[in-house]
Amino acid sequence: MLRVHVLDCGSTVVDEALPFSDRSRNPLAFTGILRGKKHKISVPVTAYLIEHPKGLVLVDTGWDTAIRTDARRYEGLVNHFASPGTLPLGKAVTEHLRRLGYRPEDMDYCVLTHMDIDHAGGIGLVQSAKHIMASEAEWAAACGAHPRYLKRLWRGISIETFPDRDVDLFGDGTVTLLPLHGHSAGMTGVKVGGARYLIIAGDAGYGRPSWERLVLPGICWNRAEALASLRTLQAYGNDENCVAVLMTHDTEQKPTIFEL
Ligand SMILES: [Zn+2]
Repeated sequence: MLRVHVLDCGSTVVDEALPFSDRSRNPLAFTGILRGKKHKISVPVTAYLIEHPKGLVLVDTGWDTAIRTDARRYEGLVNHFASPGTLPLGKAVTEHLRRLGYRPEDMDYCVLTHMDIDHAGGIGLVQSAKHIMASEAEWAAACGAHPRYLKRLWRGISIETFPDRDVDLFGDGTVTLLPLHGHSAGMTGVKVGGARYLIIAGDAGYGRPSWERLVLPGICWNRAEALASLRTLQAYGNDENCVAVLMTHDTEQKPTIFEL
């Protein structure tokens, strides 16, 4: 049996126009700059643990515990003011793992859907995982000059890459890494299960309206790719064998355990 734990790893505050770009006519609204508090919403930050007979897979990391004591330095000034995060006690990824009886070194894989701080920012906590991985496209972008990538988060940590196509992680078709590019250069989802399955979609969507009505988020690295990824999610979402499309910041998704 496969089990997927949806882990509540705190929250982040974003402009209401970030998740669903159709919620504002202000073209810069999604950045949160010069926008009043009434336009801000809190959204969850989620990570996932897949318990598989062939190994343990952590998908994303949420925040580092450093956010509790020195948020300004940890997040960087722009993130700290535009999109500040919160990590209550017990919600750090390693605190969840400990509660479930695991240590970071027990993780066979830590797969990063992409390398924004709310997804890869806890990488330092789980750096003893056996393999830490991001897609080739995401890693190439993260090594570039774009300010969204905070290289200091993964300094000294060895990150392996996987190709930008479907990757069958255990060779049995039950955990597949899926390119869902667009929100970021190499955003990757994970399909988990067999006949019944679920999709971990990262930030390819922000909630059911994303894939039901093909609503792009406010921030896209590549809008055409982001739209193609939403169409992919829509096909999965409409498939009766797909039990859930899980999105990192979906306010409708509660922490739970799926058995597949
Ligand atoms: Zn995110």
